Amino acid sequence: EAHKETLEFKAEVSQVLDLVIRSLYSNKEIFLRELISNASDAAEKLRFEALSDDGLYEGDGELRIRVTVDRDAGTLSVADNGIGLSRQEVMDTIGSIASSGTRRFLENMSGDQAKDSKLIGQFGVGFYSAFIVADKVTLTSRRAGLSAEHGVRWESDGRGSYSLENVEKAERGTVVTLHLKEDEKEFLDGWRLRTIIGKFSDHIALPVEMAKELYGEEAEQKKDEPPEFEQVNRGTALWMRNKSEISEDEYHDFYKHVSHDFEAPLTYAHNRVEGTNEYTTLLYVPKKAPWDLWDRDQKHGVKLYVRRVFIMDEADKLLPHYLRFVKGIVDSDDLPLNVSREILQHNRKIDTIRQANTKRILGLLETMAKDEAEKYGAFWDEFGKVLKEGPAEDFGNKERIAGLMRFATTHSDSDQQRESLDGYIERMKEGQEKIFYITADSAAAARFSPHLEVFRKKGVEVLLLSDRVDEWLVSHLTEFKGKQLQSIAKGDLDLGELADKDEKEAKEKAAEEHGSLLEHLKKTLGDRVADVRPSTRLVDSPACLVVGEDDMSANLARVLKAVGQ
Ligand code: ADP
Ligand code: MG
Repeated sequence: EAHKETLEFKAEVSQVLDLVIRSLYSNKEIFLRELISNASDAAEKLRFEALSDDGLYEGDGELRIRVTVDRDAGTLSVADNGIGLSRQEVMDTIGSIASSGTRRFLENMSGDQAKDSKLIGQFGVGFYSAFIVADKVTLTSRRAGLSAEHGVRWESDGRGSYSLENVEKAERGTVVTLHLKEDEKEFLDGWRLRTIIGKFSDHIALPVEMAKELYGEEAEQKKDEPPEFEQVNRGTALWMRNKSEISEDEYHDFYKHVSHDFEAPLTYAHNRVEGTNEYTTLLYVPKKAPWDLWDRDQKHGVKLYVRRVFIMDEADKLLPHYLRFVKGIVDSDDLPLNVSREILQHNRKIDTIRQANTKRILGLLETMAKDEAEKYGAFWDEFGKVLKEGPAEDFGNKERIAGLMRFATTHSDSDQQRESLDGYIERMKEGQEKIFYITADSAAAARFSPHLEVFRKKGVEVLLLSDRVDEWLVSHLTEFKGKQLQSIAKGDLDLGELADKDEKEAKEKAAEEHGSLLEHLKKTLGDRVADVRPSTRLVDSPACLVVGEDDMSANLARVLKAVGQ
């Protein structure tokens, strides 16, 4: 006999359901991810139990998930042939606060609705997310190992009660059927579903199948036959495969898939980390900067997976901001599936992954800079300005980032940024203690600055900085390998050992001889200058403007003015 009973939800369940529907509506397609993720968990549980009891497979070891629609009935179903649920298990899991995430959510609930709807995103809602788009949900299940008459059907409109009855179910596993709300019929569209499955479940290591779409005559001929199924996700997570078995082409294809780029990447790194925090990363450096690289809300390109289940796009905690051009995936074995952005904010495992990712990318770039200078030059032209944000953001890696930088300098006539700080240090003159630079708003303005005269004369190299971010850079990168970075346009230029005796004497003599001229200039210029001094920094030009050591540089003042500060 069916033994049908109607049971009340525990009070909290209705409360949660209400909140779920309200707060997740803007992101409603996640219900499909949750259901597919449950189906995939059920398959994994079966695999695990079958390790000690092969009979649980009942002769069918090909685990898969099927998503079907019935357009006439307005239903969408997700079916699996995983472990299934007994009647008692349905009561325990679906009828009460099933997911551990939901349970934790309840413990944290404050009663303040606005606060609580924010909270819910942090914990995830699993099965109940079905009620975002459905006004009735039917779950039919039979546990592996039980006979067909031990099937069970659970049904609810999500409003306080559910019914439970015994049914015959020949096939092992679970079918969840959503009776879609009147205005959610978009989820009956096969292509819409394929897109969502591709986005969320492409790399679930289990095939997700849908009935082939038939058209015209063929549809007519086969309308009474059982549908033919085809796999709509990839079904294997590329990054879980052995490096040695993955071809360059496959790596490139996957890059195009995750990045929506049409070109192959510049380079990539694929790594598996074992130990107390286990995870896999596959990170790519693109060839070209995306159009929104300088957009304040630019999206990060790293996707987060937990055990092959897609969790979120644009996981900006997995890499620092100055590496925002990197694309790829991180797949953690240890984070909870219900992890949210808020949780990522303060998660130790995430911090460790972020640090390792940063070192990996810096290492990748160092190798490229060393072995493939031309390729690295192209990289620098695309992303150098972003990397220059690094020293301000990432104190710990300041020196490594600085080592990756390339500059235009007086060493060559080219305005291309190709000289490294290490190269500069090698070329330093005897007695030279500092790395000299000049900032200007264009490469030409830097190169022809009168400040350079004395350096030209002495053959001392000067970095020509003309990117907008350079002012920001030199305010955070004040030294490299023990050598101070010094602006040649600031303060009383101290050439140190480089100044010869003649110059010192000339300076003193000038002060004496031209004392009255200096006085006169100072008087005439009044408040517009702080001082008028004789200087050895000029060779051909009669005079130049200099800012005080601690003042804003003239160029920075120009930049700030341009942005309206
Ligand atoms: P979580 O997946 O985080 O546990 P859910 O709300 O998604 O939370 O699911 C609640 C529980 O319901 C699961 O833990 C599982 O026991 C059961 N369940 C849901 N869907 C299935 C399924 N397709 N097969 C077997 N059990 C399921
Ligand atoms: Mg779940």
